[in-house]
Amino acid sequence: MNKKRRTDLLIGLKEHKIEFLENESMSAYSSIKIGGLTDLIIFPKNEAELISVVNLLKVNLCGYYIIGRGTNTLFKDARICMPVISFKRFNTSLSEIKKNESETVLDVGAGMSPSKILNYAIKNSIGGCEFFYGIPGTLGGAVRMNAGSKESVIGNIIDAIEIITDEGIKYIIKKNDLKFSYRSLDIDGIQGNYFITKAYLKLYNSSESKIKENIEVFKKRKSSQPLGEFSLGCIFKNPSGVSAGKVIEEIGFKGFSKGGASVSEKHANFIVNKGGAKPDDIMSLIRNIQEKALSHKGIKLNTEIKII
Ligand SMILES: Cc1cc2nc3c(=O)[nH]c(=O)nc-3n(C[C@H](O)[C@H](O)[C@H](O)COP(=O)(O)OP(=O)(O)OC[C@H]3O[C@@H](n4cnc5c(N)ncnc54)[C@H](O)[C@@H]3O)c2cc1C
Repeated sequence: MNKKRRTDLLIGLKEHKIEFLENESMSAYSSIKIGGLTDLIIFPKNEAELISVVNLLKVNLCGYYIIGRGTNTLFKDARICMPVISFKRFNTSLSEIKKNESETVLDVGAGMSPSKILNYAIKNSIGGCEFFYGIPGTLGGAVRMNAGSKESVIGNIIDAIEIITDEGIKYIIKKNDLKFSYRSLDIDGIQGNYFITKAYLKLYNSSESKIKENIEVFKKRKSSQPLGEFSLGCIFKNPSGVSAGKVIEEIGFKGFSKGGASVSEKHANFIVNKGGAKPDDIMSLIRNIQEKALSHKGIKLNTEIKII
């Protein structure tokens, strides 16, 4: 970003009283606690602030990155010169907008975490989002990544979402126009970047005991993951019909370390920061695993995580 555009952008942000920080280390914004510096990180708190940010970026011709809580994003060492728009402080409202005998529709702000939605669902006997158990990050990130597990993904429970496009225009997009696929979302008719600002989740009425029973399968699975350590969740997508973790184990990378980064002993599709890991350590492990999976097993492992 050139100096004049940057100055104008900062003046605009101050005028609109939108929170931002300069020269921040991105390690504080990623669950693996790694990352270089960013010139500017902006924290819109609600839709009105986000539209102001988008308009300021448009006027000042700035590209940008969008992040939620960085639980699936690796920030490299190189300084990030484009502004980062963070949803860390974004709207976490949650309300029931429809309830009948069988269904409940929740209207939830994109800053809310999936695990808090699940807590609400348990307390209010609402079933259908048990697979949120142990998924960190924001709802916006979960929708963008179609987060979930083999039992269910968020795309299955979305009724509609609200987005702001990079033109600053708000749209409500209904389920039929949302094309969810494995850890991905495309929206019919929307090209370019968009910010997810809320989601309507269509869930069913259940009982607290039934929900707790349903959660057991996810609790059990999560107990096989290194949840107490700094990670980004699964690094690779599962290739068709195979578990990426199993492939990584079979090619001998379980427990393998590079610098401060290790392939988890608990779950080989997780890379953990044991302390002092550098982005290059992670990138090098990713490349080594990909090369060996291809040369020894003919399997192409694609990353699930986003790399900035
Ligand atoms: C310990 C651990 C366990 C995990 N378990 C699971 C699991 O069981 N299942 C699973 O699917 N994932 C899992 N993950 C991965 C991760 O938690 C999910 O993908 C999560 O939904 C990402 O949310 P986030 O806000 O952190 O997204 P980020 O990592 O910040 O961003 C991910 C992507 O979403 C985009 N994005 C974020 N917010 C928005 C927004 N508001 N509008 C538009 N785009 C946006 C970003 O640009 C980026 O492309 C796990 C991660 C960890 C660390």
